[in-house]
Amino acid sequence: MQTIDNFNFAGKKAFVRVDFNVPLDENFNITDDTRIRAALPTLKKILSDGGSVIIGSHLGRPKGVADKFSLKHILAHISELLGVDVQFANDCVGEEAKVKSVALQPGEVLLLENLRFYAEEEGKPRGLADDATDEEKSAAKKAIKASQKTFTETLASYADVYVNDAFGTAHRAHASTALIADFFDVDHKLFGYLMEKEVKAVEKVLNDIQRPFTAIMGGSKVSSKIEIIENLLGKVDNLIITGGMTYTFTKAAGGQIGNSICEDDKLDLATELVQKAKEQGVNLVLAVDSKIADSFSNDAKTDFADVNRIPDGWEGLDIGPKTEAIYAEVLKASKTILWNGPTGVFEFENFTHGSRSVGEAVVAATKNGAFSLVGGGDSVACVNKFGLADGVSYVSTGGGALLEAIEGKVLPGIKAIRGF
Ligand code: AMP
Repeated sequence: MQTIDNFNFAGKKAFVRVDFNVPLDENFNITDDTRIRAALPTLKKILSDGGSVIIGSHLGRPKGVADKFSLKHILAHISELLGVDVQFANDCVGEEAKVKSVALQPGEVLLLENLRFYAEEEGKPRGLADDATDEEKSAAKKAIKASQKTFTETLASYADVYVNDAFGTAHRAHASTALIADFFDVDHKLFGYLMEKEVKAVEKVLNDIQRPFTAIMGGSKVSSKIEIIENLLGKVDNLIITGGMTYTFTKAAGGQIGNSICEDDKLDLATELVQKAKEQGVNLVLAVDSKIADSFSNDAKTDFADVNRIPDGWEGLDIGPKTEAIYAEVLKASKTILWNGPTGVFEFENFTHGSRSVGEAVVAATKNGAFSLVGGGDSVACVNKFGLADGVSYVSTGGGALLEAIEGKVLPGIKAIRGF
């Protein structure tokens, strides 16, 4: 497999799939440009080799052409960060894109309009009537698959080499994230630096484990984390299940959880997971106490209670000090750490303490030589909020993609390039 460091882009045109799906305010100002910055090393390497770049990305979830989701809103910022006057094609597969890509000179950059303006990018039919028959649905699916091939081929025709640097969409088998790779031979498709780093970090926690390995799974619902938890049970030494999920486990074990969040239809599942952990010799670490509140609000009256003795009218919105100490002890001894999900409602200032303490314990373990990977939505927001991102080994940019990788799934965007 080719690597970006070994590839000489001189005189070559590279189609680089990035994830520039950045948040914009109502005046189209970028409120967080992390994703653009994350792709800069790849773009700069190609340009400094003497290559040219065609950037493809999506922005939001448009259902067709929509000004609100146009990448023109972020063009100036990309130019500024790259230090190059980036050109723009108003249609990713129109005549303009073709002419401009053909004319592209070494050192030049062309940004294509939002790839998802075309249903072909995702390969799913759009505009089907709600009452469409099965036949109509299947005809529409067939039609979109056929036009997707032409769409993909057109994108591929702009470039000599395909670079995927969009880990955030690696779990999608879309035209520009996976299918396009088929139009390039094995020596002309490769991961960008960001993608390389993400793949390495995931491999490290899944296949190159220094023990003890501890996973901290937080968040609100067991149902959304079940596959990850099951996959991790076969790998970890310690599994900390925390956040809102705690109370489903507590109730399943016969505890009183007051008004705490709970999935009543997952009580049996929780009991099964406890049993499975036991069978597999995994130390399942659950909370013993909670910071409780008399309403779901930052300004609620608060108290601390044993996790299985929460009075009616109160709910657990974070872990308590005894639990913090138990987690810290486990994390201190860990050599590989995966953190996904907060210990409580960290969006409320008064319930951030537990998540912050976990973050600090992860940082301390990292200083002590552990490899720590933080990723999947809210835990990234946590480490950023607490200013701890620099103290962990790796903060993943992929939400759904990271979670699917941890579930043990093969990601189409990765497979398309390295073959597995
Ligand atoms: P998830 O999206 O499943 O990773 O869950 C993250 C969300 O879980 C965050 O918005 C937290 O506010 C929420 N959460 C964590 N702990 C609790 C809790 N004890 N009660 C209610 N929500 C919680």
